[in-house]
Amino acid sequence: MFSVNPCYDLQPASVDVEELWAEKNYEDHLVNMDPERQELYETCQRLGVGIAVMKAFGGGDLLDEKLSPAGKALTVNQCIHYALTRPAVATVLAGAHSVEQLRTSTAYEDATEAKRDYAMAFASFPKISWEGHCMYCSHCSLCPKKIDVASVTKFLNLAKAQGTVPETVREHYEVLPHHGGECIRCGACETRCPFGVPIMENMKQAKEIFGK
Ligand code: SF4
Ligand code: SF4
Repeated sequence: MFSVNPCYDLQPASVDVEELWAEKNYEDHLVNMDPERQELYETCQRLGVGIAVMKAFGGGDLLDEKLSPAGKALTVNQCIHYALTRPAVATVLAGAHSVEQLRTSTAYEDATEAKRDYAMAFASFPKISWEGHCMYCSHCSLCPKKIDVASVTKFLNLAKAQGTVPETVREHYEVLPHHGGECIRCGACETRCPFGVPIMENMKQAKEIFGK
């Protein structure tokens, strides 16, 4: 079980959990998630260790523009979807003060993709950016070749982080219905990505690394 949300993910590990929310740590412009956290999630995924998420809403602060370190409020659906789209995350344990709050969280199961989409909200954060970094948000879909860009990129990043292709990652890549090698470089996805990710280059690299 591990605390995962888009603001904690920007901060390096600390022995003092209060530091993760300290105002001074959000004063400067922040870019991309902490590399050690990313490595932790990727290592868990590679080893087949599922992460159960707590603090997906940052104790509720992320849902309130005045309290969120991001300076913009997110919705419950966006926070849950962010956590569930990190590598290795298997489930979110949604905290609740009331039955109504619990119902709001469980409504995620029936929420549309548009309601879950956190990409544009993240791109509007005043002092935080993820430029060039795939957030696995799927905002770039739909691809005319039906490539799941977020999944291809996730497996590509896992392989690149390892410097080799772990067998489990190769197996997961191979069962995707469509692969990076099918990319026709139409560029439609790149116009939709709010984080400036070089998707066509990533698809090319996926083909080189995985052979399809
Ligand atoms: S390439 Fe961009 S839009 Fe697509 S999943 Fe990654 S961050 Fe999201
Ligand atoms: S550039 Fe490639 S991945 Fe992107 S939408 Fe076109 S075919 Fe799909």
